[in-house]
Amino acid sequence: MHKAGRHFLQIPGPSNVPDRILRAMDYPTIDHRGPKFGKIGAKCLDGMKTIFKTKSHVIIYPASGTGAWEAALVNTLSPGDKILMCETGHFASLWCKLARRLGLEPILIETDWRRGALPDKIGEALDDDKAHEIKAVCVVHNETSTGATSCINEVRKAMDDASHPALLMVDTISSLASIDYRHDEWGVDVTVSGSQKGLMLPPGLSFNAISEKALDASKSAKLPKSYWAWDEMIGPNKTGYFPYTPATNLLYGLAEAIDMLHEEGLDNVFARHKRHSEATRRAVQAWGLEVLCNEPRDYSHVLTAVMLPEGHNADEFRATVLKHFDMSLGNGLSRLAGKVFRIGHLGDFNDLMLMGTLSGVEMGLAVAGVPHQAGGAQRAMDYLKASAAGESSAVAAE
Ligand SMILES: *Cc1c(COP(=O)(O)O)cnc(C)c1O
Repeated sequence: MHKAGRHFLQIPGPSNVPDRILRAMDYPTIDHRGPKFGKIGAKCLDGMKTIFKTKSHVIIYPASGTGAWEAALVNTLSPGDKILMCETGHFASLWCKLARRLGLEPILIETDWRRGALPDKIGEALDDDKAHEIKAVCVVHNETSTGATSCINEVRKAMDDASHPALLMVDTISSLASIDYRHDEWGVDVTVSGSQKGLMLPPGLSFNAISEKALDASKSAKLPKSYWAWDEMIGPNKTGYFPYTPATNLLYGLAEAIDMLHEEGLDNVFARHKRHSEATRRAVQAWGLEVLCNEPRDYSHVLTAVMLPEGHNADEFRATVLKHFDMSLGNGLSRLAGKVFRIGHLGDFNDLMLMGTLSGVEMGLAVAGVPHQAGGAQRAMDYLKASAAGESSAVAAE
């Protein structure tokens, strides 16, 4: 049945693809070994360095984020290597499972899934590892299953304080181009990312940003690799080409996304996400519901996971919202199934889209009979109004 108006895709990735990117991809596929292609390839490879904030190498795969997770590990590690991971939520536990299947030996630091990674615990584990058997520390920057962000610079500091030589690997699949991230400055060795969240593209591209130290490690790493091999990529990438067929049309979109992010200014993009997350939490608080992340410092700017009161099923609530208001909200994953719903406020997103989203949630709570206080959307609007007025008076005062 036809539904009038635009569907609201408010899951925390894939995010809404802006028309400008759709238009950029709507162009004939060209010869990826022909003379025109190198310019597009180079624009994407160089442009992504400015998004990761790195001067070293960026690899682009035609793959989902999971592929780039695997690439980070198989390029740098050997069978039986110990790696330290922090189980911040569902995505961290999936990366751990992937590592086990590859024949690595993850040591998992557990959390209550209500906050980011624990730098103190990471530091303790590294202090105890006098023989330097741990070869990598792997952290998820923005845990998309819980809405908690980890302080990567504090993880780096814990590693430095322990004088530990392990590589630092960070999953930024849902944070890149939405939350401040600095590959070089924070001393990250491999940053993993994907196309379908902050980069505003459809799913299908993923990335490794790699330090010189990681590149050195790749020369002696023994895990088998072929499709993911960095050394095969780096040669052709120098002139903007790839060893196998790249996702040509997604690269047209990526070049456009990089332009859009720089036209807005990365700092403005980050501030926009932060402001929308603040407005969303105010709405949740006014409804009398609880945000899953209970460490204010770790609140995600990308999504908010909301707990439903005991006895109410989050998936039934989400089905109600989809049926009546044509909006998709994120589900609770693994141990959070049925307990939380997730509001994505990332990517190509503005104040009115947020107000539509929060109105849909508030109406959905009423229709589904979830106990709450009305007025959350109003509270968010009050905040957005006040901060917009603050900004315009600041502009007027300049
Ligand atoms: C989405 C996501 C993934 C998985 O990416 P796919 O593209 O589905 O393979 C991994 N980690 C985080 C933090 C994510 O948000």
